[in-house]
Amino acid sequence: MEYRRLGNTGLQVSALSFGTWVTFGHQITDDVAERLMITAYEGGVNFFDNAEAYASGKSEIVMGNILKKINWDRSTYIVSSKVFWGGQKPNQKGLMRKHVFEACNAALKRIQVDYLDLFFCHRPDINTPISETVLAMNTLLQQGKIMYWGTSEWTAQQITEAHYWAERYKLVGPVMEQPQYNMFARESLEKDYLPLYKTFGLGTTIWSPLASGLLTGKYIDTPPAADSRLGLENMAWLKDRTLAELDKAEKVKQLKKLADEVGVTLTNLSLCWCLKNPNVSTVILGASKEAQLAENLKAFDSMDKLNDAVMKKIEDILQNKPMILQF
Ligand code: NDP
Repeated sequence: MEYRRLGNTGLQVSALSFGTWVTFGHQITDDVAERLMITAYEGGVNFFDNAEAYASGKSEIVMGNILKKINWDRSTYIVSSKVFWGGQKPNQKGLMRKHVFEACNAALKRIQVDYLDLFFCHRPDINTPISETVLAMNTLLQQGKIMYWGTSEWTAQQITEAHYWAERYKLVGPVMEQPQYNMFARESLEKDYLPLYKTFGLGTTIWSPLASGLLTGKYIDTPPAADSRLGLENMAWLKDRTLAELDKAEKVKQLKKLADEVGVTLTNLSLCWCLKNPNVSTVILGASKEAQLAENLKAFDSMDKLNDAVMKKIEDILQNKPMILQF
């Protein structure tokens, strides 16, 4: 396993990390969840990603029970939560001071830890001044309840505004962002955030590196199995979004052909492609089965196969490199 600095912080995060969206507390049993965490940890993963919204809090409860049972040394792992979707009633959703505090305290109880290493604003909240969220996050930092705070799916402008307020108040701004990043979702990480890496030393913890399984190639000519994410009844919206675009299906076929020529699985080609971007601090893996995670954790073995020539061939297939204007 390779460890990377989380942006400009001193924190060392495993370049492959492990998250629980859809799976923990929902798609898989608690026993499978435990085995997945052990497989990840034994494979060198030190960062486990979670959120108050995942399975409406159950995902954090499952992870907390596992952490308590296994009793790994707290200094050997990093755990996160995210605040935004806490419930339906007013003040249960958003980034107002009240919900930021309540979400953090509830996550600490569910995960059964004294502090969260990373605490993310899961989405921007247009109804709360960014300055209020910056202040609330800094209070949590000072209380020792969180170690670092960051954002997810914020625009570059919103992240910049958070830093503006932090600087003005002599406080700490967001140090990491969690964007979607994979071969089909490139704009934010490769273009929009470009000025932020140098200016603020922003780190990134990227999600859906396999586009919810599409980039494993398993949906080429095969409809989603009932026990896979895209086959789950309540994920029909994601299935439509992921499989609808025909040109994506065609590109996946071509990528699979290239992966076969290079001698790697398409899954690992896709993961290595993410890992090769120096602005990626960690690639958050998801898995519903141990065999999947075992395969994904081997991604580093294939890194040197993605040489410049192969990267160029991938670019030729994708045809979606964000255009960056130079003035
Ligand atoms: P991926 O795009 O890698 O999708 C993971 C899913 O793909 C698995 O659950 C599994 O689904 C399938 N899969 C993974 N590996 C394999 C394999 N080797 N062979 C076949 N199928 C495989 O990542 P996620 O979408 O899960 O995102 C990773 C993490 O990022 C999440 O768990 C969460 O922590 C975080 N996240 C954050 C978001 C945010 O807004 N900040 C949003 C979404 C995710 P199945 O078996 O069911 O087909």
